Amino acid sequence: MQIPAVTDAQELSCDVLVIGGGTAGTMAALTAAEQGRDVLLLEKAHVRHSGALAMGMDGVNNAVIPGRAEPDDYVAEITRANDGIVDQSTVRQTATRGFSMVQRLESYGVKFEKDEHGEYAVRQVHRSGSYVLPMPEGKDVKKVLYRQLRRREMRERIRIENRVMPVRVLTADGRAVGAAGFNTRTGEFVTVRAGAVILATGACGRLGLPASGYLYGTYENPTNAGDGYAMAYHAGAELTGIECFQINPLMKDYNGPACAYVANPFGGYQVNRHGERFVDSDYWSGQMMAEFAAELASDRGPVYLKLSHLPEESISSLENILHSTERPTRGTFHANRGHDYRTHDIEMHISEIGLCGGHSASGVRVDDHARTTVPGLYAAGDLACVPHNYMIGAFVFGDLAGADAAQFTAYEGELPQQQVVDAHELIYRPLRNPDGPPQPQVEYKLRRFVNDYVAPPKSGARLSLAVDHFERMRGEIDEMGAQTPHELMRCAEVHFIRDCAEMAARSSLARTESRWGLYHERTDHPKRDDDGWLHHLDLRKSPSGAMEFTARPVEPYLVPVAEFTPGGGASRHLGEVHPEQVATAGQRDVAPVGSGTRSSGAPARETAASHSPRILELLALSDTEPELPLLRPFLTDPDPAVRRAAVAALTETVPTGTGPALAETLSDTDAGVRGAAAASLRELVEVLPPEEDLSRGLLSALGHGDAVVRATALDVLRALRLGEATAYAPALADPDIEVRIASVRALVSVGALDTVARAAVDPAREVRVTVARGLDTPEALAPLLGDVDILVRAAAFTALASVGCPTPYDVRAVDALAAPSWQVRTGAAAALGAADPRSAVPALSTALADPNADVRKAAVLALLRHAPHEAARTALASAVLDPDADVRAYAARAAAPASAS
Ligand SMILES: Cc1cc2nc3c(=O)[nH]c(=O)nc-3n(C[C@H](O)[C@H](O)[C@H](O)COP(=O)(O)OP(=O)(O)OC[C@H]3O[C@@H](n4cnc5c(N)ncnc54)[C@H](O)[C@@H]3O)c2cc1C
Repeated sequence: MQIPAVTDAQELSCDVLVIGGGTAGTMAALTAAEQGRDVLLLEKAHVRHSGALAMGMDGVNNAVIPGRAEPDDYVAEITRANDGIVDQSTVRQTATRGFSMVQRLESYGVKFEKDEHGEYAVRQVHRSGSYVLPMPEGKDVKKVLYRQLRRREMRERIRIENRVMPVRVLTADGRAVGAAGFNTRTGEFVTVRAGAVILATGACGRLGLPASGYLYGTYENPTNAGDGYAMAYHAGAELTGIECFQINPLMKDYNGPACAYVANPFGGYQVNRHGERFVDSDYWSGQMMAEFAAELASDRGPVYLKLSHLPEESISSLENILHSTERPTRGTFHANRGHDYRTHDIEMHISEIGLCGGHSASGVRVDDHARTTVPGLYAAGDLACVPHNYMIGAFVFGDLAGADAAQFTAYEGELPQQQVVDAHELIYRPLRNPDGPPQPQVEYKLRRFVNDYVAPPKSGARLSLAVDHFERMRGEIDEMGAQTPHELMRCAEVHFIRDCAEMAARSSLARTESRWGLYHERTDHPKRDDDGWLHHLDLRKSPSGAMEFTARPVEPYLVPVAEFTPGGGASRHLGEVHPEQVATAGQRDVAPVGSGTRSSGAPARETAASHSPRILELLALSDTEPELPLLRPFLTDPDPAVRRAAVAALTETVPTGTGPALAETLSDTDAGVRGAAAASLRELVEVLPPEEDLSRGLLSALGHGDAVVRATALDVLRALRLGEATAYAPALADPDIEVRIASVRALVSVGALDTVARAAVDPAREVRVTVARGLDTPEALAPLLGDVDILVRAAAFTALASVGCPTPYDVRAVDALAAPSWQVRTGAAAALGAADPRSAVPALSTALADPNADVRKAAVLALLRHAPHEAARTALASAVLDPDADVRAYAARAAAPASAS
């Protein structure tokens, strides 16, 4: 391709420019547009499926749902998880706004798991507070967001340019005024003039090299190559906490998370090769990774996610989530190995290092409105330093950025010409040298140095060698060759990766202590030093173009945390950090900076497409946002493939009347079309109006011969509150188990518990378990406490923990503590948490010696409910020596009330 002239640029203009159309970026664009601004959204991939959400989303990691968790507890929890280095005002935004964001997403059509009573089914994964909210169809979140962006009102305000990749934010008079980039398909040069710029380009996932050696086989979305980190840095913004890397536990040989957050609420946990739980810390933190790495390296390794002990129900539910919502390839991977969760626990390993504000704390410095230190420039999502912010925090900060940036209107001044020329040179230089070293080779070498010298455990000597190599590689990177726009994109990314690698090495050199467990473990400074380093480490580009540092004291906390006391005081300007003298690296003139010193320096649509001309016609039509009458002929086409594609088009565009049309399609003659309509109704359930035609269609579907149709009709009627007990009750006699379960849930939702109780004699244990979870008095639960099936008995005892456990049920629970099944003993221990302490505490104290760790853990949790009684506290004190890490940690909470939720 030819190098375009700088003057040939496509010139775009907007009030608010959003760079990156992932989680944070789409929300920022929607909010800024809702506030009346003209928004330009630039995405280097395609917004419909780009970013981390496409990597497998199984739930919200950190939702503070009223009644289930307290914002201040969450803020304290994150402060501890991040070893005290936190700007609590930012974390508090996620804590207080996360719930309304969940509701906003729900109004868009994102589904969150609810229990039989319609309440959010939040799970407790961490020892304090319940923050994990499963998303049964998390894989569809990006589709739902894209649908929002394409709503007519939003299309008028938001211009989306896919495959356009900015490489630099442009600044004038110290503020952000636009960006320069190029089209990764056509190669066209692009400049943008903007009133404000929001960076939402995600993590730097392509920093370390995965153990597989595959450049793109990273834990993070590999498209996120640190673009935003480099752009913010060169625009003059401060970055912070860069030395606090992201490292995650992974499945061995498969670049996906092991998903302990998903498995733990089902009873899964991490064990060493002797089957012992070993993780003593709690939140997904550097401390946990340090314990993980130590176990892995010891004679007790390798380590596993243990699932093989779980009952069949739990394993099949897990398979459902992990092999569909999470990643379909995961099921194939296990199958090809001949492994099954019933017989094989999952071997785990450690990911490559990356930078990520939202999983750890390495990001662009932002305030509680996502503002960076450069006026008019915002950062949101994984790119911004708001520790442990994850997906919901990315949405919250995208929203905050969009709202604040909406105060700006388009920039009318001249774009800074030299910056535009420099960006042009950065993009197109490889075309002048088409036979230069190819990008994959240069990138491999660069990232291998990251693994060799920057990955923890870190040392001053290794980090110094890293700085040397990264400096030298500037030249090699400038020599890279490319011939196509796609290769130009990859070459530009190598520049970003190099910038991030240098930032990671220099920041790690500057912080002369160890903190955050494995994330910043320095073998030459092995201790945490709160006196010198309860500070953020800020990094910026100095006027001379060097990286310079400031140690900024942590602000006094809004929510006190006993373990840390930020002292405040003045910032220490550290200047440049210089490499140490390493014997083989030649003479150095300046020692490294030390603590306190100053220095100088849609599957259905895809499968159906391709063969029929009618489908091509339909695809073209659906791009024009058609009304239902235009789609109707496709819904009745003789070819089932066309009808399936029509259902997919309806689902994507959701014109008025979609609900009734889908309900009608539930009676299609083809099972595939019916299945597609059922899946679409479930996908859209949060956004469909509860209209009469829909209700009529669903009620008539209750009599259909296809069980999938009947179960779907029941679930959708329940979710939209369209049905009554008289409509739901007959399905209790349905021949299909799933339909009967749907019927029980629907009856619970309308409070018809007398009818539900009749299903306590259902022949299927799955139905009886659902009944146990829905009933609300001990009397109603009584028959199930003596059920022949252990899982039903366990569920019934567990339900007593919520509905109350008066005499004589406490006596039954005490007896059940001697049951041969650990599931029943676990349920019984939970029930005793709601019983009179005089009968409960002695029995629970005895249960602390149970051979099963889950029973002991349930006993500890029940004893915590009785903690005002001295006998309970005495028992808990003995459990702090339990061989199981979880049991110990929960027991310790009795002794530390400040940290209990
Ligand atoms: C494997 C995995 C599993 C996860 N599971 C969960 C979970 O279950 N629950 C949870 O709460 N969180 C989870 N997370 C975290 C959560 O997904 C992220 O915190 C969140 O999605 C980050 O949003 P973001 O907008 O910062 O980044 P992204 O959503 O990744 O968006 C970044 C976007 O920027 C684009 N981009 C990058 N550079 C440029 C450029 N130069 N120009 C234009 N566009 C660019 C990318 O293509 C991408 O679309 C998971 C993350 C991963 C990686």
